[in-house]
Amino acid sequence: MLIKYIAKYRHAITAIVAVLFIGSMVYFGIRTKNMKDVSIEPQTFSGLAMGTAVKKTLYTEDASQNEAIDKMIDTCLSELESKISVRESGSEVASCNRNYAVNGVYEFSDEIMQYIKEEFQICEETNGAFSPCIRPLAELWGIEDGEARIPEPGEIEETLKRTNPENVKLTNDGITFFEERMAIDFGAVGKGIACDLVREKLQETSAEGAVISVGGSILAYGDKGDGRNWHIGIQDPRAEEGKVFAVIDVEGGLVISTSGDYEKYFEQNGKRYHHIIDPATGYPVDNGLISVTVVSESGFLSDALSTACFVMGTEDGLKYAAKKGVEAVFVTADKKVYITDGLKKKFRLQSEDYQLENK
Ligand code: AMP
Ligand code: MG
Repeated sequence: MLIKYIAKYRHAITAIVAVLFIGSMVYFGIRTKNMKDVSIEPQTFSGLAMGTAVKKTLYTEDASQNEAIDKMIDTCLSELESKISVRESGSEVASCNRNYAVNGVYEFSDEIMQYIKEEFQICEETNGAFSPCIRPLAELWGIEDGEARIPEPGEIEETLKRTNPENVKLTNDGITFFEERMAIDFGAVGKGIACDLVREKLQETSAEGAVISVGGSILAYGDKGDGRNWHIGIQDPRAEEGKVFAVIDVEGGLVISTSGDYEKYFEQNGKRYHHIIDPATGYPVDNGLISVTVVSESGFLSDALSTACFVMGTEDGLKYAAKKGVEAVFVTADKKVYITDGLKKKFRLQSEDYQLENK
């Protein structure tokens, strides 16, 4: 009876079995490709580079490779620093700042000139909120140099002439300054560029995944060996270092940069003076924002735009982030949080002190 039944429906049964078989192959195939069961034991290296803390968490199946990868990243960071530092006197940027002649052309290598052009493009797009020539003002405030003080209004007035991007002209391979004592600065983009270069280097290694943080910029690379996304914590701008107020889920390959008024600052008469300067006034930005985070495939953009959007404020910053195709998180002093649309399913608050305004 059963045999007769099977014989009658053998084509249908074969089809069902085939569908189930193929279905399970596809399911397990996708699962092994995207979500492997075994994750790799990470190894973390901490140190200093580019004047900031660097932390590298490496996920490599053959852990004996990790030390060489760590060294390779250090070399990559110090090579970059030796080109863009304003403090290392031999760097391309420092020697331009020291040696250029007003109205003459100071030439850069193609690599550095390309970054300078991109910085000036962002300066133009943000109507000067992002300024690659902010250095004389940063030095006047002394917040990064341990000599912080509130300058006299006359000093700010005088220095603003030397930070005006209209007093700079770019040529194909160099720049011309039209004022004495001007300077080029990579302070707002260097750590993001570092993440871009480290990502390129990691691609040459056997590392499956890594989280590399260079100051306020974090590179999420590959995965932990399990095919899952990364959960990157964002520093709580009003809590001790290491405490996060939110988490963003990101795919490997992205860079997450945060600019905040808590990074470098001093207080006088109950007012906070921090290191992000409004080029329009010469004073630290005072627009109600305390932190801005930008997520992008480009480390350069994520770093440049975290600073730019901080200066622009929430409303203009959100518009600019959307125009540039990056995702962003804005945090105000009254602990309100605004996020771009693309983050709505990827952003999770972790602290009850903060309120998400645009869910
Ligand atoms: P970040 O931490 O990436 O926001 O960068 C802050 C650094 O960028 C400061 O320490 C300055 O060197 C520089 N900076 C400050 N204000 C500006 C600005 N308005 N545009 C560009 N760079 C700035
Ligand atoms: Mg920045």
